[in-house]
Amino acid sequence: MAEKQGDFFDDYKNDETALKVNDGVKQPPLINPYLQNRPLRRRTIMSVDEYMAGIEAGDTTILSQAITLVESLSPDHRKVADEIIARCQKIASGRKTMRIGITGVPGVGKSTFIEAFGSHITGKGHKLAVLAIDPSSERTKGSILGDKTRMETLTRDPKAFIRPSPSAGSLGGVARRTRETIILCEAAGYDVIFIETVGVGQSETAVHSMSDFFLLLMLSGAGDELQGIKRGIMEMSDLIAITKADGNNVEKAKVARGLYASALHLFPPTESGWVPTAVTSSAVTKEGLDDIMAKIEEYFSLVQGNGFYVRRRREQARYWMYESINDALKNMFYESEVVEKLLPDYEGAVLDGTMDSFAAAEELIDKYNNR
Ligand code: GDP
Repeated sequence: MAEKQGDFFDDYKNDETALKVNDGVKQPPLINPYLQNRPLRRRTIMSVDEYMAGIEAGDTTILSQAITLVESLSPDHRKVADEIIARCQKIASGRKTMRIGITGVPGVGKSTFIEAFGSHITGKGHKLAVLAIDPSSERTKGSILGDKTRMETLTRDPKAFIRPSPSAGSLGGVARRTRETIILCEAAGYDVIFIETVGVGQSETAVHSMSDFFLLLMLSGAGDELQGIKRGIMEMSDLIAITKADGNNVEKAKVARGLYASALHLFPPTESGWVPTAVTSSAVTKEGLDDIMAKIEEYFSLVQGNGFYVRRRREQARYWMYESINDALKNMFYESEVVEKLLPDYEGAVLDGTMDSFAAAEELIDKYNNR
């Protein structure tokens, strides 16, 4: 084809025709020649001391790099990450930080709320880290918080640090990494942590297992106020905020608040001694944001006074100890040579119906134990 084209134009370069084709401008090469011989710079891992110095100084670039190590699946990274987490834990353990789980179905106005409420919080002098658990997301595919165009104000706020959900993986894995990230952020001086998740599926339970306070965002709807969100999620909420309470929506939001408030009364009393309630808020008029902040402060003063804050955190730590053991055991099993080799055969036998699943599991575990 190229050759043909060349012949064609060559005809016109002939002086005997009135048509003239200029030689044209020489095009630069597609690949920058200066880059060609430069070796690709591999990102090197710094020492734990260097990461710690950066984190303690509140250096967000180093904090981000440390979080990347926490999220990494490479055993080398994991080793450094574990040390960083342990040291951050020591630094952060005395700090009375506020871990706030925020959930609500897509479209409820979560990002807009976090942007408005987050700015409200940093405006009061707090340092805010916004994390997310979204096991279905891949970072490049516009996960919640992954899209930089959302939360523009917070992204530019020097008192705010936003980190998208770790990329797709099992919910347990994603949740565990987020929990570790909380610790890093707290060591870096962030005293308020938002952990966001979408109000569908199991991720709320994961968020609940790592937050002190659980905020549920709800829309005021026509007649179906109590639908769309699972009862269990409502039951674990410390506060329900009816979003978009502005303009024509104000009255509807007030009605919804009343309904949710009475629904909350039907649940058994909470262990914390806190009485969950419902408020209305608007990220547009900013109305209600002060109320939410006041409720959160009231909650923390109650639970820090009655010991629930510490007790709950310890219980969560116990929960995460078991989660980590389960994770590690599972990895050891599946990554062992013997299981990797035999698993496809056993799986095939179960699929064929030549072996029953329990017998297959038992035999495989025996093989692992006697390896
Ligand atoms: P998310 O999917 O829950 O993160 O929801 P978004 O924050 O993206 O908001 C969904 C839509 O609701 C957007 O069109 C927002 O502009 C709108 N929205 C969010 N908060 C408010 C609010 O307080 N008032 C009004 N009127 N609209 C809002």
